[in-house]
Amino acid sequence: MSSNNPQTREWQALSNDHHLAPFSDFKQLKEKGPRIITKAHGVYLWDSEGNKILDGMAGLWCVAIGYGRDELADAAAKQMKELPYYNLFFQTAHPPVLELAKVISEVAPAGMNHVFFTGSGSEGNDTMLRMVRHYWAIKGQPNKKTIISRKNGYHGSTVAGASLGGMTYMHEQGDLPIPGITHIAQPYWFGEGGDMSPEEFGIWAANQLEAKILELGVDNVGAFIAEPIQGAGGVIVPPETYWPRIKQILAKYDILFVADEVICGFGRTGQWFGSDFYDLKPHMMTIAKGLTSGYVPMGGLIVRDDVVAVLNEGGDFNHGFTYSGHPVAAAVALENIRILRDEKIVNRVHEETAPYLQKRLRELADHPLVGEVRGVGMLGAIELVQDKATRKRHEGKGAGMICRTFCFENGLIMRAVGDTMIISPPLVISKAEIDELVTKARQCLDLTLAALQD
Ligand SMILES: *Cc1c(COP(=O)(O)O)cnc(C)c1O
Repeated sequence: MSSNNPQTREWQALSNDHHLAPFSDFKQLKEKGPRIITKAHGVYLWDSEGNKILDGMAGLWCVAIGYGRDELADAAAKQMKELPYYNLFFQTAHPPVLELAKVISEVAPAGMNHVFFTGSGSEGNDTMLRMVRHYWAIKGQPNKKTIISRKNGYHGSTVAGASLGGMTYMHEQGDLPIPGITHIAQPYWFGEGGDMSPEEFGIWAANQLEAKILELGVDNVGAFIAEPIQGAGGVIVPPETYWPRIKQILAKYDILFVADEVICGFGRTGQWFGSDFYDLKPHMMTIAKGLTSGYVPMGGLIVRDDVVAVLNEGGDFNHGFTYSGHPVAAAVALENIRILRDEKIVNRVHEETAPYLQKRLRELADHPLVGEVRGVGMLGAIELVQDKATRKRHEGKGAGMICRTFCFENGLIMRAVGDTMIISPPLVISKAEIDELVTKARQCLDLTLAALQD
């Protein structure tokens, strides 16, 4: 992407000379040069070339209330002037973190009234792993250490986060997973369901949890962690039979259940949490992303009352971060949640805009390249295939990346996970903006089909 704009070229040179970007091929990025995003408002981004782009991914799933809300900037500035930083280690606290913990308890499922704050979702899952093991040790069952997770789940990029996640390409770099973490099949019918119906496959995938618990011995299993809907894995909405069967299994065995709500939390499904949407009743929920709409980094772990009661008997929990409950992040999160509530944004997603998005997205199912369209709330996935009936892919052609590139060039951000196109727009997207998103998506599918036929 060589640019004629000297300002863009200057920034790209800085990138080449000094910056190492996350989840990137450093050398390839140097050759291409990054696109420079300079400003944003509502659901739109602008790059340094003056292009206006509809952000169908809400940044990285996080910008729930949209870009450019001055109230969050004002809340941050006010808090920075009043108390920019203080820690929570020395038996001290500050007003924003305490008020935020209360407000989160109000929107969280019943009986989940305590929050441990972190700087990110990954740190939230690290906290979870240590808290689960601490919990069982307090209960006199220190062998209940193993955490069961799922292949192709995403739980972050710290050593524990990447281990909990089921991304093999992440495990390959750095001898992961760490001991005490094991993975079962994911409920991804379109990709892995074979000849089973979605309903049959949902039961089969859920039964893998029971098989794994029995294989390890329940006395060695501490917890099961899962995203209500897998995000980074490709917006994988499980078959309807999956969560009810998982709940039956969890009820049978004495292990903790952790819902990773980093994407689903704070309204993305049209309910406050994915756990509300599927009635999951977890012991712990990891949060981040929508908590602050991404305006500043913050994550955490919401813990159920019965678990807290046990932790209360355990003495010191030897864990925490310098920025746990950072006052500026807490002030921004408070303002973000105030906006979500006062403007009834979650409600509007549930009643109006999510049904509209889902209906319009499904119109793309008639496209020759599309094998399935699925989604829940403000999450959607479009499967690109060569053959609709057999779900056969365009092997080795990189259809997803081709489509993603056409999208970017035509003013739409859709992400590609293999040949699955995914969207997760800001929760505030309007019906007219949804129309624009779907129209652009269809144009890009046409362009992709033509490119694949060349
Ligand atoms: C993004 C994500 C994380 C990691 O959050 P970070 O803030 O990037 O550390 C964890 N779990 C899920 C489900 C996520 O989508």
